[in-house]
Amino acid sequence: MAEIQLRGVSKRWGNFVGVDNFDLTIADREFLVLLGPSGCGKTTTMRMVAGLEEATEGEIVIGGKVVNDLDPKDRDIAMVFQSYGLYPNMNVYDNIRFPLKVRKVPEGEHDDRVRRASAMVELDEFLHRKPAELSGGQRQRVALARAIVRQPQVFLMDEPLSNLDAKLRVSTRAQIKNLSHELKVTTIYVTHDQIEAMTLADRVVVMSQGVVQQVGTPTDIYDRPANTFVAGFIGSPAMNLMEGTLQGGVFTANNAQIGGLQGSDGPVTLGFRAEDAAVGEGGGEINAKVYTMELLGDATMITVRAGGALVSVKAHKEYRAEIGQEISISVPAQICHLFDSRTGARTG
Ligand code: ATP
Repeated sequence: MAEIQLRGVSKRWGNFVGVDNFDLTIADREFLVLLGPSGCGKTTTMRMVAGLEEATEGEIVIGGKVVNDLDPKDRDIAMVFQSYGLYPNMNVYDNIRFPLKVRKVPEGEHDDRVRRASAMVELDEFLHRKPAELSGGQRQRVALARAIVRQPQVFLMDEPLSNLDAKLRVSTRAQIKNLSHELKVTTIYVTHDQIEAMTLADRVVVMSQGVVQQVGTPTDIYDRPANTFVAGFIGSPAMNLMEGTLQGGVFTANNAQIGGLQGSDGPVTLGFRAEDAAVGEGGGEINAKVYTMELLGDATMITVRAGGALVSVKAHKEYRAEIGQEISISVPAQICHLFDSRTGARTG
């Protein structure tokens, strides 16, 4: 059992708060993704779990044991980083075997374990090569195999795909997902890429400026963002957010009027996703001039200015409009999200 608990964990350097009161239980075998923009504290959180960074406050518990005072090597975790950290003078076989030697695993087990780990990441044919003779994707797979061979209780992965090109990133991502399913190891995975987070995670933790903004399944986070930060971070494009006023269930903003809403009167931020709205025939809830049109292949993205922001709608792939042309967008009340315009918190 390798449940991980972070109990009120904070990290401060002087007055600067890197991570603020992080409180979460990660279930045994769960794949948890820490997601957020650069500097939000995700790497620091992971490094505290690893023991590479001391928590200023709070307790870290792995498998029922408080590990705050344990060295990284005694925490039974394996780490994979974006820089592969391979030994250049050792071939792939010896790189993968290295952790077994360090940990004094009986020699007789080495060959079998190295071969099983390398087969899992499809490196069987490259065991004699040196890292310099491998592609970036293959090197990252060696790093993965070196983590797998240890059979740890916990995997920690910090942006393991970020040095790979777009295509390799997608295939290696699929491989990591498949491996985590097969190995059934509790995993904490750090990324700033929301697509990686959505595709890999059992649960996602969205962070901003050291503070957890929302914890939930990818569907929770996408369908019910807790605040405007999460709404504006998740999705491609992110949720449209317009500033305006709600009065008697009618939202009014520059170029926009949407009725049938529920909430108290006053200033609000209204959000909706581009794929939930539709380009209408005229007389829609948003009436504005086209700012830009982008062909995505499977759809056409139309962007207009409304409610003090750029607002996008996904139209049929054959839809065309000229920049500057007046168009109409229908935004039914049931696709709308309402947020407090001051705090950003969801209100409806
Ligand atoms: P990135 O995606 O860029 O790696 P991150 O979310 O992983 O970002 P962290 O590396 O956890 O962010 O850093 C969180 C904050 O703590 C940043 O503002 C960073 O500048 C600060 N920080 C990190 N290490 C130290 C340190 N040793 N001393 C002071 N501040 C630090």
